[in-house]
Amino acid sequence: MTLKGKFKYVFFDADDTLWENESYFREAEHRFALLLSSFVPEKEACALLEVKQEENIPIYGYGSKTFLIGMLDAAAEICGDRLDKDLYFSIKKIIYDLAYHEFHLMPGIEEVLKALHGKYRLAVATKGDLLEQMTKYRESGLYAYFHHIEVMERKSTEDYLAMAAKLDIAPEEILMVGNSVKSDIAPVVSIGGTAIHVPHEVTWAHEMMDIPASDRVIEVKNIKEILGFLL
Ligand SMILES: [Mg+2]
Repeated sequence: MTLKGKFKYVFFDADDTLWENESYFREAEHRFALLLSSFVPEKEACALLEVKQEENIPIYGYGSKTFLIGMLDAAAEICGDRLDKDLYFSIKKIIYDLAYHEFHLMPGIEEVLKALHGKYRLAVATKGDLLEQMTKYRESGLYAYFHHIEVMERKSTEDYLAMAAKLDIAPEEILMVGNSVKSDIAPVVSIGGTAIHVPHEVTWAHEMMDIPASDRVIEVKNIKEILGFLL
């Protein structure tokens, strides 16, 4: 199968496609659970944090600030009146470290962007907090390869349709590369686009779903394999 000549744009997901992200969230979750380990077992703290995350995402969107609110909600429920100043600031420190962690590009990504640059219009299609996403984008040093960055609220089908309209392309002209089936693959395929799934070893439970059966979904193991379809 070749996609050569079929697309003008190639859209790349950001977190865990361009740069490492989810493992830092899991590390933060682990630190949170350890902090509360004198109150509840680690598993219980993580499970409640996940519930609070799901409650807060529809209200506050994606990103580390929402994760902070989830942690504070979970801690308040677990500790009750014993949620003191020290615990409050320790939780805030976990999120600070998460937001300003060491930055790592995904292996092979720069080589892929370099090979496609000039042959396609490359764009970032990400979701979440605007400041957070733009800060990571600038820090990545990858912006020279990209024609456009779209920071969507949720990566819903509506968000993708709005992005296509903004760039004056049809939904069928979207070619999306990403690690999340729920955010990068399913919505794109459902509006007629094509998607390449590059799985990441750490996937957030929230993002998990079955890969839709479609001849417009391609599965690769390594990001470098996409060059075989595009060049
Ligand atoms: Mg991702």
